[in-house]
Amino acid sequence: MPVTGSLLITRIGELVTNAPDDDAGGSAEGAGPGRFAVIRDAALIIEGDRITWTGPSSRAPAADEVVDAAERAVLPGFVDSHAHLVFAGERSAEFAARMAGRPYAAGGIRATVAATRAATGAELRAGLHRLAVEMLRQGTTTFECKSGYGLTVADEARSVALAAEITPEVTYLGAHVVPAEFDGDAGAYVDLVCGAMLDACAPHSRWVDVFCERGAFGADEARAVLTAGRARGLIPRIHAGQLGPGPGVRLAVELGAASADHCTFLTDADVDALAAVAPAAPAAATASAAPPASAAAGTVATLLPGAEFGTRQPYPDARRLIDAGVTVALASDCNPGSSYTSSMPFCIALAVRDMHMTTSEAVWAATAGGAHALRRTDVGYLAPGARADLIILDAPSHTYLAYRPGVPLIHAVYRSGKLVQP
Ligand SMILES: [Zn+2]
Repeated sequence: MPVTGSLLITRIGELVTNAPDDDAGGSAEGAGPGRFAVIRDAALIIEGDRITWTGPSSRAPAADEVVDAAERAVLPGFVDSHAHLVFAGERSAEFAARMAGRPYAAGGIRATVAATRAATGAELRAGLHRLAVEMLRQGTTTFECKSGYGLTVADEARSVALAAEITPEVTYLGAHVVPAEFDGDAGAYVDLVCGAMLDACAPHSRWVDVFCERGAFGADEARAVLTAGRARGLIPRIHAGQLGPGPGVRLAVELGAASADHCTFLTDADVDALAAVAPAAPAAATASAAPPASAAAGTVATLLPGAEFGTRQPYPDARRLIDAGVTVALASDCNPGSSYTSSMPFCIALAVRDMHMTTSEAVWAATAGGAHALRRTDVGYLAPGARADLIILDAPSHTYLAYRPGVPLIHAVYRSGKLVQP
C-alpha cells in the first residue's frame, strides 16, 4: 500500500547521498550529513517535505506518484553558506578595470553602500528575489544572506529584515567596511555596530559576521563585534584571510565560529587551529573530506573560489586544509564587487580544476560542507529524515558538474519535496 502523497523518484543512475551511515536508509535519522557516498541504480521516496527511503531501484517500495529519472544523477540541493544578496547597483566597470590590471581593494564596497542606501525597499526586495530565483535555477536550495551594504542602523535593519523574508540563514554584517562618514573614527563605528545597530538587527538574524582584513576591521574590533553578537544569541562567522594573512582564522576558532570564510592566505598556525577543532576524520575515509555526522562541532573553512576568479588572486590551498582534516565548504560569495556569480556548479568546477579538489570532495563541500558551515542537520544529504531538497542533473554522474563547466545541467530541482524547477 503506497503512502498517501508519496513520491518515488526511480531509475536514478547515481544518487549522491552523503548519508550519515555507510548504507543509505540507516538508523542515524536526523543526524545530519555524513561522508560523500553514492548509490548506483537508485531510487528514493519523498513524503511531505522529507526523504523517507533511499536504496536500489529494484527494491523501491510503491508510491502514489512516480518520476523516472532516466539514469540521471540525483544530488542534494546545493547549500550556499556565503552570499551577499541585499544590494543595489552593480560594479561591472570596476571588474573590467581590474581585469585590465588594477588590483582589488576593499574600498569598492562603498560604491555599493551608496547605491543600496539610495534604493527603495521595493527595489532591494526585487533584486533579492531575482537572485534567489537565479540560485534556485542552478540547484541551490539553501542559502545564507548577509547584510553589509547599509551600514547605518536603519539601512542594516532594512537589509536583514528583507533577507529574513527569503531565508532563515540571515547574517548581520554591519562590520563589512567602515563607512565614509566614520573615516578616521573606526572605533565609533565599531561601537555603533556593537550597540544600536546590533539591537536593530539581532531580531532578524541568526549569524554575526565581520570582515577581518587589513583595510576593514582588525582583530580587536572583530572580537568586539563577534562577542557582542554572541551575547545577543547570534552565532559568529568571519571573513578571514581573503587579501592577506591575518588574525581572522584563529579568532574564528577562539570564538567557536561556525565558519572561517575565504581562507585564501593561511599560516601554519591557522591550519593547525582549524584542524584542532575539526571533528576527527572517520577511520575509513578515502576520497572524502567528510567529518562524522556532527554539524555542531568545529569551525568550517569555507572556500569562495568565485572571489579569486573575480579578483584574479591565487586560489586557497584546499588540499592542505583537507589533508589536515579540516572540514571544507564551498560557497559562491555572490556579491556585486568581487564575485558576481550565484552558481555553485561554477564554484565546483573551479575547485576541481584550480584547487585540486576531487569531484566528490567538491560536490560534498557544496552540499554537506555548506550544511556544516550553517550548522544544519536537515540539508546537504539525502537519507531518511533529511529535507527533500534535491537536484536531478541532466547527466549521469556528479562529475559532470566539473567535466562540463558552464553548461546548464540542472534538469529539475525539488525543495521541501516540491518540484520548484523547471
Ligand atoms: Zn563575503
